[in-house]
Amino acid sequence: MRIHITLDGQSVITREGDMLVDVAASNGVYIPTLCYVRGKPCLGTCRTCSVRVNGNIMAACTIPVSDGMEVEVNEPEVTDMRKALVELLFSEGNHNCPSCEKSGRCELQAVGYEVGMMVSRFPYKFTPRTRDYASNALWLERDRCIFCQRCVEMIRDKETGQKIFSIESRGTQATIEIDVELANRMPPEQVREAAELCPVGCIIEKSLGFNDPIGKRKFEIKSIRERALERVDK
Ligand code: SF4
Ligand code: SF4
Repeated sequence: MRIHITLDGQSVITREGDMLVDVAASNGVYIPTLCYVRGKPCLGTCRTCSVRVNGNIMAACTIPVSDGMEVEVNEPEVTDMRKALVELLFSEGNHNCPSCEKSGRCELQAVGYEVGMMVSRFPYKFTPRTRDYASNALWLERDRCIFCQRCVEMIRDKETGQKIFSIESRGTQATIEIDVELANRMPPEQVREAAELCPVGCIIEKSLGFNDPIGKRKFEIKSIRERALERVDK
């Protein structure tokens, strides 16, 4: 059913039930995302896509549009709140971009640029988390995990459907874990898929490092904003 919503004051005709984040992109309004993968079930874990809907703050990847909805995306207070959320993610991990294998291909870094982040307003925690090298083809740089749960929900053992990744403990004690036995059964294309799916440089392929030269890396060729608006898969 065709419905009418307002997007930053602009009148938009769209289809009822489509996800707000997608409707916005289709109408030229970029909303940053980190946990969201278009076409996959919503995770709603990172809240980076927070917008104001009918006066309330909501994550745009979790909201199906409905008739009469009034949405504010680029209103200063909402914009600053999204920036604060991204800053929080940086302050909770150890993100040294120049020495990171994912630099130039990292969604957190790319979104950091999009929200205009220069430095986090929050104190950096530098939480020590041990790296995990136990599986044959992947290693985990746990300090960079933003706990989006993409890997947990979307990467499963091909035979049994069991989860290969999991998150243990909570809050500052949380760590991303890998089932080594299942991980060692992952075919090479699934190893690549897991490393690509991770929005940051936490899941790293052991055989790959700084393969793409500076200037030719994914988000240097096309920004994360352009990819979202053109509906290019991240
Ligand atoms: S994971 Fe992304 S944000 Fe973190 S250090 Fe690597 S490039 Fe930077
Ligand atoms: S390892 Fe990567 S994909 Fe998995 S929860 Fe952490 S950030 Fe998300």
